Amino acid sequence: MAAARLGIRVHIFEPQASSPAGDVAHRVFIAPYNDKEKLEAFARSVDVITYEFENIPTEALDILENIRPVFPGRKALATSQDRILEKRFLESIGLKVAPFAKVASDAQLREALTSIGTPAILKTRRFGYDGKGQVKITAVEQASAAFAALKGAPAVLEGFVDFSCEISIIAARNAKGEIACFDPGENIHQNGILRKTTVPASISHSLQTDAVLLAARVLNALDYVGVMGVELFATQDGLVVNEIAPRVHNSGHWTQNACLIDQFEQHIRAIAGWPLGDSQRHSDAVMVNLIGGDIGALEQYQNCALHLYGKAEVKPGRKMGHVNLISPKSA
Ligand code: AMP
Repeated sequence: MAAARLGIRVHIFEPQASSPAGDVAHRVFIAPYNDKEKLEAFARSVDVITYEFENIPTEALDILENIRPVFPGRKALATSQDRILEKRFLESIGLKVAPFAKVASDAQLREALTSIGTPAILKTRRFGYDGKGQVKITAVEQASAAFAALKGAPAVLEGFVDFSCEISIIAARNAKGEIACFDPGENIHQNGILRKTTVPASISHSLQTDAVLLAARVLNALDYVGVMGVELFATQDGLVVNEIAPRVHNSGHWTQNACLIDQFEQHIRAIAGWPLGDSQRHSDAVMVNLIGGDIGALEQYQNCALHLYGKAEVKPGRKMGHVNLISPKSA
């Protein structure tokens, strides 16, 4: 929708027959990610390709990339698809991450628990989102059950970070290397799913600056083009990176109503090779996700901007939309 407002026609490639993005796009290609012919036809029909979902199979990207540029690029995608590669990359550029160890067997998990300690979280290396593919472990005795719960998927054990709050920063970079960051938001998760983002975050100005500098370092190191979400734990020893997402991010949806130029427009500007917009916000904001059956009576949303995704089916834990509550800028 941001692209349409900028006069750009959007073509969607999506395996499912009915998709929220397809509903508002100029053209839709419906095919599985392994349909080479459809992928090629799609790529030839556009000038530039981007994605809003990072688990696209590598083989599909190989086909697309041969025909048209794909932004953000492969390095960012490969790094963020695998939690271990991601953590190694973040450490290699001098950033802090939770203590972690690779886990491929029950025995390796026990070993990792001995070195990292409890509480800890066992996460699948790939394909996890919204708290899926994660098990919290509070005692070594839970190791076998936790490993079994991930059904043999390659995993990583993470030490539990003692954070004062969780924040995220949404940052954009274009091919020239210009960077624009939105103010960090403070996130509340429930059952591993983002529930609420509040801006400004209740952190010091110096920590806010640290978050901006940290995000810029990540984007530069990946020679990144597009918008990225960087999830951080604020701790007594500064910022610890939880994960990076190579796309517009749920915790950046507040920008739709609190900034002149939101994360979606910023992303389109970046991938189109245009100058980035100003990321300043004009208002304070609280974004609340509408999850599962949350939507309820519409009367309750008279004083906030309502965003509904038009998903065909309501499912427990599924993000159906969000609301933005806006108030005059306080700080
Ligand atoms: P993730 O899918 O990795 O972003 O995890 C979802 C949520 O689980 C995070 O936003 C945190 O609230 C919590 N969480 C994940 N990993 C850790 C960790 N190592 N220490 C503390 N909390 C965590």
